[in-house]
Amino acid sequence: MKKWVILFITLSLLIGIYFSIQRDQNIQKNVETLIIHDKNMVIGINYPKTGISPLDTKIKNQVDQIYQDFIKEYGITKNENESAELNIDYHYNIVSVHYINIVLEKFISSSSLAHPINEIYTYVYDSNDKRFLGLEDLITQEELEKLVPKIQKELMDQYPECFSVQQLNQKLSPIFKNFPLFTFTDEDLNLYFNPNEIANGSCGIIDTTIPLDHINLKIEDIELGTNTTKEYTVLKETSKVIDPHKKMIAITFDDGPGRYTKDILKTLTKYDANATFFVLGNKVEVYDETAREIVKQGSEIGNHSYNHKWLIKLKSDDFIDQVNQTQSIVKRITGITPKVLRPTYGSVNDTIRKNTNLDIVLWNVDTLDWKIKDPKQIANRVIGKVEDGDIVLMHDTHKRTVEALKIILPELKKEGFQFVTVSELKEAQLLRKLDE
Ligand code: ZN
Repeated sequence: MKKWVILFITLSLLIGIYFSIQRDQNIQKNVETLIIHDKNMVIGINYPKTGISPLDTKIKNQVDQIYQDFIKEYGITKNENESAELNIDYHYNIVSVHYINIVLEKFISSSSLAHPINEIYTYVYDSNDKRFLGLEDLITQEELEKLVPKIQKELMDQYPECFSVQQLNQKLSPIFKNFPLFTFTDEDLNLYFNPNEIANGSCGIIDTTIPLDHINLKIEDIELGTNTTKEYTVLKETSKVIDPHKKMIAITFDDGPGRYTKDILKTLTKYDANATFFVLGNKVEVYDETAREIVKQGSEIGNHSYNHKWLIKLKSDDFIDQVNQTQSIVKRITGITPKVLRPTYGSVNDTIRKNTNLDIVLWNVDTLDWKIKDPKQIANRVIGKVEDGDIVLMHDTHKRTVEALKIILPELKKEGFQFVTVSELKEAQLLRKLDE
């Protein structure tokens, strides 16, 4: 009899573990990236891909729509002085293993617009029940009635110039359809309102946060406060000797980390090579393990902004924000602080130069791997063309880049090249100068 009980307990434990693994594996954490730089028009799009098809389809359709509308409106710039930018950023949070919360943020700016256009889209999906959730799935009507005065007070405090009490009473009556945009974490409920919805457009996107422990939730299985942010310190796992008198190049990868970064690291290790990865803060948050792999492999992490905004178009405060946010994310997730910065789209101005202590690193060999589809052709832009001291631009957002690297490294190794990080390259160049 006892044996049966034990067997039953063991079995149910195993089933429990099996299900939790299954549930975890259902949700992928991938980010799709599209970066285009076409003279005066730039596009920087990042959006999540979860592996859950109704959710992915909905997000992709929205992104496609935004992209097509942008191209229609700004695709052909009428004159040289006109410029346009589309940026799509995201925030991504999984609560209690199965509630997926996603925010997409659209940003369009153009010299023909007086103000940039900003818009937010939210998606809350329950992967157990396989359905999208509205706020009415989280709280009762009664609870909403209790919540509305709190929300109004928060908004008045946060945006004193944007509202009058009267306005808020009118626009935020306790009806669920007044609150279509929301997400939640394991601590807070976040509410969003697009420009002109409840406040004047010049107030931008309005958002506010209410702690979940102040709310009676209809959903019972949200574990509050379980997502503690862990800090990591990782160390290089290899050491290599660089001969400053032998020829060397620095290969750099922009716009990651992503799903191909680990393959790139494997290829680098195979040929004794290191590289520099200019990362986006919003992707390091998703590919945290990969970011640590970069450091362990002996490669360098550089800063490439938080969400790939066109940095030369930003006010100095916003530029500093983009850089600092990424610095602290990389520090928290890997333990290292980047020393080098590659401005987005390779464009630099005085605001950038004046407002950072990081070394600004561009490139002098462009593989055009974002445009050329054939790995061999990409490789041919490097093999036989690079010289000692060159910095090569690639992107760890394409599979073809991994293939191209597999062609490039053995060839150049035969030619006697060493593959170093940009900081190592700079050091070696200093040593050479001292020897002269
Ligand atoms: Zn980039």
